[in-house]
Amino acid sequence: MKLNKNLKILLCIVAVALVAVIGLFIFLIYNKNAVDYKKLVNEDNAQKAMEENEKLAQQDAFAEYTVWTTDGIKFRESPDAEGEIISTISKREELRVVGEEEGWLKVEFDGKTGYVSKQYTTTEEPTSTGKIVCIDAGHQRYGDSTKEPNGPGSSSMKARVTGGTSGRTTGVSEYELNLDIALKLQEELEARGYEVVMTRTSHDVNISNKERAEVANSAGADITIRIHANGSDNTGVSGALTMAPSSSNPYCSNIANESYDLSRDIIDQYCAATGMKNQGVTTTDTMTGINWCQMPVTIIEMGYMTNATDDTNMQDPDYQSKMVIGIANGVDAYFGL
Ligand SMILES: [Zn+2]
Repeated sequence: MKLNKNLKILLCIVAVALVAVIGLFIFLIYNKNAVDYKKLVNEDNAQKAMEENEKLAQQDAFAEYTVWTTDGIKFRESPDAEGEIISTISKREELRVVGEEEGWLKVEFDGKTGYVSKQYTTTEEPTSTGKIVCIDAGHQRYGDSTKEPNGPGSSSMKARVTGGTSGRTTGVSEYELNLDIALKLQEELEARGYEVVMTRTSHDVNISNKERAEVANSAGADITIRIHANGSDNTGVSGALTMAPSSSNPYCSNIANESYDLSRDIIDQYCAATGMKNQGVTTTDTMTGINWCQMPVTIIEMGYMTNATDDTNMQDPDYQSKMVIGIANGVDAYFGL
């Protein structure tokens, strides 16, 4: 019995020891897993923090700079040629570069952030052409039939300013179309380094044709472009033409040749850009706005508002961009730029 009792005690001790060893073992395993888990969490956080710091460092390291466009280019939402187009940016526009990605610049323009192709930009600021262009948006909301001399010293009197034609299909007035294009042309020419003088920027003015020429004269403009659209009783007639004074003009024959060159360059480039039928250059000595001019001058009749196709085209924003680029290309061609 005594031995049995001792055996029982021994068995108890062994059992307690076994439980202790198993307990310790479980404790160790549990702790080992706990340590590993914490380690993993810490490593993950450290990795994330490192990446975040790297990103911040890169942002800090990116020194913003300025570029200028060397062509009319697309402003996109993402850095690829299929990216959604935000808008089109004209040549010589200034852009703030805030990032770069493989051939693309992340830029700020017009209050928006997007991407442009790097190859159409330069870090060199475009120089001014040093040329002054006067743009006269023909007509105004109300004509003025009061008379003024048709040229310096002329006894021939003509209405100060007429009402112009209107779109047979669109119903738009010529004075509206003329100013729309004139304002877009101003933006395009300024972007190309020209100084631009406008004879009017609203419809509610009363400026005669003689006074429009005088605006250009007193501004010392190098050339004047008078923006008009045509009308005809024959609705089938379409196309564009420019007008220049003839070499026998009694008031401004001294500007006849250069005006002809300007008119030729503008109508050719305009029709090339738009596909408008080219009716060439017409010489005329009856236009008050030309006769009072002291510098090369042209009138562009951009198309026939009485023709359904011309009229509709001339109200289309994409077509208008082509019209403006065509006229501006003509100005560049005239100055050999
Ligand atoms: Zn007109």
